[in-house]
Amino acid sequence: MDRRNENGRDEQASAGGAEDEHMARARTLMRSVLAPREAREFVETNLCREHAFRALATVQLAATEFASQAVLSGSGPLEISLRCTRTTVTVAVRYQPSAALARQSLILTDELSTQVIQGISRASGAQTAKDGARRLWCSIATGHISLLPDRDPH
Ligand SMILES: [Zn+2]
Repeated sequence: MDRRNENGRDEQASAGGAEDEHMARARTLMRSVLAPREAREFVETNLCREHAFRALATVQLAATEFASQAVLSGSGPLEISLRCTRTTVTVAVRYQPSAALARQSLILTDELSTQVIQGISRASGAQTAKDGARRLWCSIATGHISLLPDRDPH
């Protein structure tokens, strides 16, 4: 539906221009109770040093929430992705919702996760692709980071 496309545009706008992007990585994780931990490890391993210094725990929290959601309500593997611009880190998890849960629009973890994500991020959303895959994402504002080594000029 149109609304989903709008979400996509909001994400592009909120995450800054593509020219600002300095890191984009993705990994596929097996759906298991270990996935949230693997999502945290993926963030720790891949987030750029400057953003890790500012926001590692926050980005890991978002990754954990999304991975947990995918494990609880999905089927099959999930893909986690990270994207940095100068002012934001965008975390997303893409998964195939399980048929059994697809009709339950709200489950408790959904509600709690939503509150957590809204508390830590500047923009967030959920999109459903044509093939039925669900993508949860949020953009965490980190302030403007310098891509050069941070040195005191004096
Ligand atoms: Zn970065």
